[in-house]
Parts: sequence; C-alpha cells; structure tokens
Amino acid sequence: MPRLHPAPSLVGRLIASLWLTCAAATVQAEPIADVHMLAQQEQQPLLDTLRDLVNIESGSKDIEGLNQIAERVAGQLKQLGGTVEILQPTDVYRLDDTPEKIGPAVHAVFKGTGTRKIMLIAHMDTVYLKGMLKDQPFRIDGDKAYGLGIADDKQGVALILHTVALLQKLGFRDYGTLTVLTNGDEEISSPGWRSTITRLAADQDAVFSFEGGGTDGTLRLATSGIGSAYLTVQGKSSHAGARPEGGVNALYELSHQVLQMKDLSKPERGLKLNWTVSQSGTNRNVIPANATAQADARALKVSDFDGLEKELQDKIKNRLLPDSKVDLKFEVRRPPLEANEASRRVAAHGKTIYQELGMALKVDEKATGGGTDAAFAALKTSGAVVEGMGLSGFGAHSNDAEYVQLGSIVPRLYLATRMIMDLSTGKLK
Ligand SMILES: [Zn+2]
Repeated sequence: MPRLHPAPSLVGRLIASLWLTCAAATVQAEPIADVHMLAQQEQQPLLDTLRDLVNIESGSKDIEGLNQIAERVAGQLKQLGGTVEILQPTDVYRLDDTPEKIGPAVHAVFKGTGTRKIMLIAHMDTVYLKGMLKDQPFRIDGDKAYGLGIADDKQGVALILHTVALLQKLGFRDYGTLTVLTNGDEEISSPGWRSTITRLAADQDAVFSFEGGGTDGTLRLATSGIGSAYLTVQGKSSHAGARPEGGVNALYELSHQVLQMKDLSKPERGLKLNWTVSQSGTNRNVIPANATAQADARALKVSDFDGLEKELQDKIKNRLLPDSKVDLKFEVRRPPLEANEASRRVAAHGKTIYQELGMALKVDEKATGGGTDAAFAALKTSGAVVEGMGLSGFGAHSNDAEYVQLGSIVPRLYLATRMIMDLSTGKLK
C-alpha cells in the first residue's frame, strides 16, 4: 500500500539516511578518537624523551653536547623509519659573533604514499653554558615540567619526535614527504643552517616550527626581523697637540656619519634603526685613526631591510673628511616572518582542530618580539609557515624556572598530528 500510505516509507528512508549519516559521522570521527587516545598514550613517552634531551647540555657553542644531542635525535628518528643524516655546516653566513665551530643539524625524511610536502623544525641548542644543568635539572612538579632549556626548545624537538611516532602508530603515511630538521645554532641566529632551512622549506606545502607557544599556546604567523649595521671609519693618527692637522680624525667622521643616519626609522611600518654602540681613540693626545659604531635594526618586511641597507650605503658616500675611509656592513641576523594566505588558512584550520577538543586556539599575525627560524623557512616558499606549534611554557632564556605546562602536551600532539593528516589528505588545501 505504498500509494495510500507513503509516510512510512518516507520515514523509513529518512531513518535509513539518518543511519547512514550517523554511520558516516562515526566512521569519520573514529580516527579522530584514535588520534586523541594515542596522543594521551604518547604523553609519558614524550616526557621521557624530554627528560633525556634536557639532560644533554647543548649550548650553541658546546659542540660536544650538540653532537651528543644530535646522535640521540637521529637515533630516535631512525627507529621511527626515517632516512636520517647528521649534517655538518658547509655554507656559513658569518655574523659578527659567529663562533669558529657551529653545531650539527639532524635531517630526516619520511616517504609516504601521497603528494603533500610537510616539514617540521625545532632547534637543539640553548643559550646556556655547560655546567648550568645541575642547578636546573629535569623535574616534574604539579602540572609543570622544569629543566634547563626545556621550553626553548627541547620541548619542540620532543614534540616533533612524538608526533612522528604517533603518525607511525596510526599507520598514517598519506603525506608525500614528511621532513624533520633540527638545528644546533638557532640561539646564535642560525649562521650555519639558515640557508639549509630556506632551501629545504622552499617547496614545502607547510612548515611547522615548534618554538614554544608562550603561556597560552598562541600560533604566530609573523615575527619581526632583526638586523645590525656596523660602521667602520679609518682615519689617520697624529699628535693631537703638536700636529693635529697631520691626522684625519676618525671620531669626527664617525659622528658625522651617525648623525646623518639617525633618522632612517619608519615607525609607521615597523622599521627601526638605532645607533647603540661606538668606540674610538686610544689616547687623549692622539688624533684617533679608527672609529666604529653599531646600530640595531628591526623590520616587519623583508624588503624593508633591503631598502634600509641601500639607504645606508648611499649615505656613507657623503663624508665630512674626504681623506677618511668609511665602510658599512649590514647583516640580517634574522629576517622578519610575514603572514601569507597559506599560513592564514592552515592556522584557521588549526582553530577547528582545537575546537574538537573544546579548546580555543589563538593565532597572532602581528609581529611581536624576536625572530625565529620560521623566518628563514618562509624566505622562498609560498606555502604555509606557522610558528609556535610547541608546548605552552615560560622562562626561555632565564636562569631559573624554565618550564612547560603538562596540560598542553596532548592538545599539541593532537594539533600537529591532525594538521599533518588533514594537509596530506587534502582536507586542508
Ligand atoms: Zn628557541
């Protein structure tokens, strides 16, 4: 009697379609539940790794310590099935304070069955000197884990290792390549690994950088760039009392140069140049033959540093004392990270992932504070570059009480894993 009583069949169809919808939803939710459960199971292994990493002192100039931590990280990545190598720097961008020897980097590639290219970066070096660990050993107290360098950036290295482990436990290989790079020179502005980071990041769909997420886990899409200018003036010494006219006063020329370069800031666009250090002369009664000065520069756009350097080079052509020699060296300690469309999309997707956990994820695209390696990763890519994927914590570069929040481990493992999965399967373009 379908003609007379169409309602039951309609209800039946509705029920059937509802059932199908639910089934589809269940099927879809299942791996997510898996990811969450595995993330919870991964917390303790992550803490074990973190303890081991904190226990290896690895200051930027402690080559022995850096080699040791690199071995440890490489070993773990090999166990996870990656093609792993420990690299030594060959292409060094020598900065004013670059040490003779620079620590290694660990590079690992996991080949998958898909097409997307994703890279995870963190740094193994710390700002601390050897011997400081004994005053700040690894320990867990309440909802925090403490230890030297734990927030900056041992947690980042541990989080990457255990995100890869989690993907492996899920049997997930839908990415094209998953690349891991951990370097040993971030705290000295990455002189040895900046070019490698830029090169490896160039053709990635997304680069996730695992610096700490601050106290509230904010993802960062922009960071300010840091540069410095070095001015060197060569004059000629002479007796200041008996024959001053025989000299070329480098201090006078330096003063002239600094004054004509004091108003190059463009505060409205975040470009700042401030002269901060100077030195000249040896004796009161000698016309100084040499003088130097240093300036601190900040920018929000890569092109602003290029423009500033050109302006500085033009300015030094105008001299007070034609017989003096003036040189200017501009170094980009770290370029700014600029937000792009791809990074905005990926970060927005991160918000929806966090919502599944009933949590809110903050995303900041206003540059605050210093730069990170994410900026080098972004130099030649049109893909997403997201900074601050690491654990919440506090106390980076402080001499006591550096910690990470235990409660952020599961959400961050879940976030990183899901981001990689959704990028790989095309759920996130
Ligand atoms: Zn760091």
